[in-house]
Amino acid sequence: MWLQYFQRYRGQYRWLVFSFFLSVLQSLLVLPAAWAVATVFDRAIPASDFQQLLAISAALLVLSATSSALALINRYVTLRSTKIVTRGLREDLFRKLYSFSRNFYDKGDRNRLHSVIVQDSERVDFMSNALVSQMLPSMFTAVLIGLVLLYLNSTLAIVLIALLPLVVLTNRWFQPALKSSVDRFRKSFDTFSSGVLFVVDTIDLARVQSAEQSELARQDKALEDLRIKSGRVAWLQTAYSLAQNSVSIVGSVAILAGGGYAVANGTMTLGELMSFYVVVGLLRSRATTIAAAVPLVVLGVQALKSLNLLLDQEDPHDYRGRGRISPTGAFELRNVCFDYEREPVLTDASLLLLPGQHVAIVGPNGSGKSTIIHLLCGFYRPRKGSLFADKMSYDDLDIVELRRSLAVVQQEPTFFSGSILENVAYGANAPDIDRAREACRVATAQDFVESLTDGYQTQIGDKGVRLSGGQRQRLAIARALYRTPMLLILDEPTNHLDVDSISRFLENLKQQDTGPTTLIVSHDYRVVAQADQVYGLEAGQLSELRAEELAHWVKLLGDRVDPEASPEQEMGHER
Ligand code: ADP
Ligand code: MG
Repeated sequence: MWLQYFQRYRGQYRWLVFSFFLSVLQSLLVLPAAWAVATVFDRAIPASDFQQLLAISAALLVLSATSSALALINRYVTLRSTKIVTRGLREDLFRKLYSFSRNFYDKGDRNRLHSVIVQDSERVDFMSNALVSQMLPSMFTAVLIGLVLLYLNSTLAIVLIALLPLVVLTNRWFQPALKSSVDRFRKSFDTFSSGVLFVVDTIDLARVQSAEQSELARQDKALEDLRIKSGRVAWLQTAYSLAQNSVSIVGSVAILAGGGYAVANGTMTLGELMSFYVVVGLLRSRATTIAAAVPLVVLGVQALKSLNLLLDQEDPHDYRGRGRISPTGAFELRNVCFDYEREPVLTDASLLLLPGQHVAIVGPNGSGKSTIIHLLCGFYRPRKGSLFADKMSYDDLDIVELRRSLAVVQQEPTFFSGSILENVAYGANAPDIDRAREACRVATAQDFVESLTDGYQTQIGDKGVRLSGGQRQRLAIARALYRTPMLLILDEPTNHLDVDSISRFLENLKQQDTGPTTLIVSHDYRVVAQADQVYGLEAGQLSELRAEELAHWVKLLGDRVDPEASPEQEMGHER
């Protein structure tokens, strides 16, 4: 873990060496300071030499200012490095999010994932600062100051060194308790954080379900848990720093007693004792810095572990091919079997889509229509059988690249807070208004967009809340067309759009010279009227509906189908 962590500092090593150099320089300043203090007590004061006293005081001020300046530069250098490391870590996490398969997200809790990434990367950042800009420099300087103490008075220094086992013991004693309480605190905090996300996400649901009270009670439990866990961590941290402080007080007292004895015996001057004391004070300030950094490092280590777990997670379901083609819009499912690790959804599904063709799949709710779309998008890999694009197996293709030629209008389209133009052109580097206009025209969205005061610049609100379901669907179609896909897929367009609008859109599409292959998937038989080919999906298998069979259904159901009723029922009636 540490190896992986410090590898993130690649490119920063010379800055870390520079920081080390600054720390050494800072420690060296202790020597003249010790000499100055000894001179004040042993010469200037006994001789009443006020000129020397003033001169030495001024020199001490300069030394302290220099030391502060060095510390400041050191801090700047190390902070710069640690912030670069945190940025790199966060960048990797973002990339990782796009590398995970649909399967990963199906299984995981997205709110918790959010909390882990946001909170833990912040904790690692705190740790890096504590470790690299406080702990490590303080440790270097503490060792060097220890050497200075040995040089000043070896006997007293050895008294101090004798205390080291006590420091080690307190650490041994506190670390496991600190670790486990920090771990519990971290989990509790993540629960709180994902709870906030949950409440914000489900505000409407809680209101219409009158679930506010029960939700508040649930969140209260999490808050109470957090109160206990965070209280315990804070208390342990205080106890830990008090214990460290007690050890250093024992050291100071031992030096006072031992040093006082030496001065009384005449083996040491008062000035030497005072200067020793001053240097011990500097050592104590380093020790305090290190002790304060320990809890942050403990918390950061736990956070780093959980982030590494996420970063190292391999996702075996992904396609790993690297081949590239220029797709013509020909796609095929060949004897595909698929399940979501439960009962089978597709048992032996085959489908051929030819360039420019308009194909419809009809089937009852839950029969696996959206699943076919997910497979075509390469979100999942079939358990058996294969998918092909232009006769190339998906297994050999770079799926991310292949998806550039696909466009899907999802069953419940996703929108983000921003303008209509930004939403329609999402994914393009620079939104092209003319292209967006043309896409909206074909998608029958132009009229409503241009009737708005701000037109394409209209802000649609978070998740598109300021639009109606039909308007969102039209924009989703426009967004799909904006990409000029080779295969356009519509999932249940009649959920939000009337059949007339869909027909007009398909008419517009037909008038284009090089229209995409179109696949419409629906439980509603009325969308098949314009299709070149219609498949029925039942019991995990696709079967092409014959023309006369189809004509029969369309004629029968064409203008008197209840859009909410499932075709299952309708078919049942007729049977
Ligand atoms: P349709 O789009 O035809 O209504 P779907 O393809 O969405 O049907 O779903 C087919 C079946 O797969 C359903 O039984 C559904 O419960 C199940 N299913 C869909 N998505 C998932 C998923 N992510 N994880 C587990 N089961 C799923
Ligand atoms: Mg569906």
